[in-house]
Amino acid sequence: MTTAYIGLGSNLSDPIEQVKDAIDEVKQLAQCQVTAISSLYLSKPMGPQDQNDYINAVIAIETSLSAIELLDVLQAIENSAGRVRKDNRWGARILDLDIILFGHEVINTERLTIPHYGMHEREFVLLPLAEIAPTLNLPNGETVKYLSQNIANNAMVKLS
Ligand code: ATP
Ligand code: CA
Ligand code: CA
Repeated sequence: MTTAYIGLGSNLSDPIEQVKDAIDEVKQLAQCQVTAISSLYLSKPMGPQDQNDYINAVIAIETSLSAIELLDVLQAIENSAGRVRKDNRWGARILDLDIILFGHEVINTERLTIPHYGMHEREFVLLPLAEIAPTLNLPNGETVKYLSQNIANNAMVKLS
């Protein structure tokens, strides 16, 4: 079994419900147990600013899946929520599920970069992650505590 952390985001079609429903979908996966759920956070969009604010959260799971198998099931959940893949990077989306960490694995393949390449710069990843895993270390030894204490909050609001 591997402990993995998944970042969730949505800014379309009732984002709070999208994120909650996605967590329920992960709970129903036979090969995944959800062991921690962060608060929901309201965050500013990255990239194009002509879109709604985002709802974000991070969850911890225990899984018997490999990282690529987990990506497949997460993308299936995104698709079943109605996500349409578009060319505009960081544009509005109904549901985004990113693998932030997968045990202590370091992966650099065409489909997967783990740890997630953006986690160091994203308050909407680091702050919820620190909430549920305050003593966690990255594979390179960096601590989530240090990273989360040194990131700008960017007007992000913790909801519940
Ligand atoms: P960003 O990757 O900057 O957060 P995004 O989430 O909007 O942007 P997507 O369009 O959702 O990007 O994903 C593009 C591709 O990223 C996916 O098809 C997947 O193969 C790849 N990818 C690489 N590393 C990861 C990861 N750790 N978690 C999820 N997807 C990943
Ligand atoms: Ca993303
Ligand atoms: Ca993604």
